[in-house]
Amino acid sequence: MPSKHADVVVVGGGHNGLVAAAYLAKAGKKILLLERLDYFGGAATSIEAFPGIKARLSRYSYLVSLLPKQVIGDLGLEIELAPRRYSSYTPNPLGTGGLLIDRNDQARTKQSFESVGSQDCENWNSFYSRTTELAQKLFPSVTAPLKKRSEVIQELGELAEFIERPIGELVEENFQSDLVRGVVLTDALIGTFAPNVDDSMQASKCFLYHVIGGETGDWNIPVGGMGAVTASMRKAAERFGAELISNAEVTSLTEDGKVTYQLNGETHEVEAKYILANLARPELARLLGKTSPRAEGAQVKVNMLLKRLPKLKEQIDPVAAFGGTFHINENYSQLQTAFEQASRGEIPNPLPCEIYCHSLTDSSILSPELKAAGVQTLTVFALHTPHPLVNESNNDEMRQKFENAIIDSLNSVLDEDIRTLLLEDANGNPCIETKTTKDLEDALRLPGGNIFHEPLSWPFAEDSESLATPAERWGVSSGYSNIFFCGSSAKRGGAVSGIAGHNAAMAVLES
Ligand SMILES: Cc1cc2nc3c(=O)[nH]c(=O)nc-3n(C[C@H](O)[C@H](O)[C@H](O)COP(=O)(O)OP(=O)(O)OC[C@H]3O[C@@H](n4cnc5c(N)ncnc54)[C@H](O)[C@@H]3O)c2cc1C
Repeated sequence: MPSKHADVVVVGGGHNGLVAAAYLAKAGKKILLLERLDYFGGAATSIEAFPGIKARLSRYSYLVSLLPKQVIGDLGLEIELAPRRYSSYTPNPLGTGGLLIDRNDQARTKQSFESVGSQDCENWNSFYSRTTELAQKLFPSVTAPLKKRSEVIQELGELAEFIERPIGELVEENFQSDLVRGVVLTDALIGTFAPNVDDSMQASKCFLYHVIGGETGDWNIPVGGMGAVTASMRKAAERFGAELISNAEVTSLTEDGKVTYQLNGETHEVEAKYILANLARPELARLLGKTSPRAEGAQVKVNMLLKRLPKLKEQIDPVAAFGGTFHINENYSQLQTAFEQASRGEIPNPLPCEIYCHSLTDSSILSPELKAAGVQTLTVFALHTPHPLVNESNNDEMRQKFENAIIDSLNSVLDEDIRTLLLEDANGNPCIETKTTKDLEDALRLPGGNIFHEPLSWPFAEDSESLATPAERWGVSSGYSNIFFCGSSAKRGGAVSGIAGHNAAMAVLES
């Protein structure tokens, strides 16, 4: 059996694995990175999803907020992130008008609150100026060793309520309008199946990571798509001398650093002092011949290509409506009802969705012909569709049912049927693809399609947690002394951020 040695083997070439490999190779370590798929980037990738159509869609993840400037600078990444002028648009599902948050026009935004009968404009401004303060205090710490909870709580002062109280309670206390409350709460429910007031605090953690990125909480569009972000990370890893192998499926690991993998039908072995696992915890356990409980996901993702943007029922320029995050059927009360319906095993009706159009801000992902024809991309993220709704035998049927529910939800605010606007691919099929949690598990090994690999953790350690080892201090401990997490399963993982990759590399260098 062919066998090699490396200082560090990185198992998995998601964007975090690439970042870890780049940092360690830059520090002079001999790195081998093994990726089972035929591309690098995992859930951060672009793809031509429809035969014969030259549009490179960010197939899974699509917006960037949490990638620190420090990582971009340290690795010399060439990544362009375009801001969105419009933060969000939300048609009033129970009446008329819609709420447009226009970041460049306060007066228009104020008027828009009034148009949906909400007095929450001032509340909105003061709530989000507090989350900006929270971001400024917390974000610089994500690429540093973990602090303890009590220290962070003390530093945050009265902002500590974002950590100590369920986000749903804060939303109810700070806002009056059902619609506005819903818009705020959605950041707590992306990929997180929870009731509006969630005592488990998972929704609060999800909210926190949605508002602290880059010390602003802004979500930007990666120019060239998510694949461009990953391509830059890959180039950096290679430039610093890491060896990256795709189509290399790791089949087993040992705690003392032996990694067995399959490549071109042959079994290979490599030994290393450290293994970095860019894997979900249950996947790591499986490769070690053990088991670990898994936490499943709760969303459906849809990608579409449209001949043009659809007309809306409300009088609003579609460029503004689709330019930011377009919330559909995400009023606060609708979110709670959807959670309850899904908990009973039903597909929520209406299905809460959010939509965004990449090509409005960055048309570089389209061929010149598609651009000239006015084609637009549309990405939908549907909430509250938990993994137990799908299984091995019903996945095809459920995918279609979810797709129908998403189309119905979307059509409820449109002046025309979105189906009539779908572009056709080279085979005459409509350009729409729908990914259930099962599809994500099959394609990416995300446990139950969990977009974060596992439940999110706070960006600090609990007071009772040990911070004795470098892996513990950097939040990348896997419980095995020479195996560290370098992906979403690490503390402060769970986004396109490279934070876990950076932190795992720092732990290796300090060990
Ligand atoms: C639908 C969806 C939408 C999302 N939207 C956003 C968003 O807009 N913004 C955002 O910031 N985040 C988003 N996320 C989350 C974000 O994409 C992930 O947190 C991030 O990509 C995780 O990166 P990673 O490198 O840690 O892991 P992954 O991307 O999961 O990569 C792990 C890699 O390991 C490989 N691997 C697994 N097992 C093996 C094995 N045995 N041998 C070799 N290789 C193996 C996998 O093939 C994969 O390439 C989204 C996720 C999903 C799924």
